[in-house]
Amino acid sequence: MRKSDSDSDGLVDAHFHFDLFKDSAEVLAEIASRRVRTIAVTNAPSVFHHTLKFSRTSPYLLPAVGLHPELVATHGRELDSMWPLLDQTRFVGEVGLDYVTSDRENRAAQRGVFSSIVERCATYGDKVLSVHSRRSAADVIAVIGGNYPGRVILHWFSGSRRDLDRGLEAGCFFSVGPAMVKSSNGLSLLSAMPRDRVLTETDGPFVQSGGRPARPGDVASVVEAIAQVWNVSQDETKSTISRNFESLLATDLRSRPLATA
Ligand SMILES: [Zn+2]
Repeated sequence: MRKSDSDSDGLVDAHFHFDLFKDSAEVLAEIASRRVRTIAVTNAPSVFHHTLKFSRTSPYLLPAVGLHPELVATHGRELDSMWPLLDQTRFVGEVGLDYVTSDRENRAAQRGVFSSIVERCATYGDKVLSVHSRRSAADVIAVIGGNYPGRVILHWFSGSRRDLDRGLEAGCFFSVGPAMVKSSNGLSLLSAMPRDRVLTETDGPFVQSGGRPARPGDVASVVEAIAQVWNVSQDETKSTISRNFESLLATDLRSRPLATA
């Protein structure tokens, strides 16, 4: 993406399901006019092309190829078709583990898929992963391990304080959305996160904002909530998040390891 002063003080939506909106062109125009750098996650390799196609028309839409853990049971066979798509983008998601299911085979299949994806991404060195970790934070962090050479964003994190510490030690970023800043657990996790690891997200359309499915511009309300927790202005919060996004995308990752928290 072309770097400019105007981008670096814009907004960031680090986890948005662009392909699930029917009015793609309108959503994209809104993203560009509000200057929201948006990681557009997808839930299966077979639907990635739609997002990839739109991303070619705007530097604000960063297309991510994914295989959602809740779809592993039905779409797990698509895993092999993900590998060539990794050459088309630096961004990977939505991937991870979801332990809402108590089915042991399903959980094991999810771990198999997620481990393969992390392993494959590690061979590139610069892949940015947006990771789902509902009720599975400890296992997600164990799969990522301490030496993943790219970047990991734990999206809508809801683990324990101990899991948070482990995620920080593993160098993870955290994308905070509208639901997190409305829950007491989410707010207490946010207060415990070092400010240089915090990003914003919407997770639209799975999250509502103002009575409709959230769109990237709605991260403005998350910025407002984070500013209150940090006790700084919204402008300062926005700049911090924007700087964090720049550091997430810093190309020479290997020579710039994150200090452990
Ligand atoms: Zn999502």
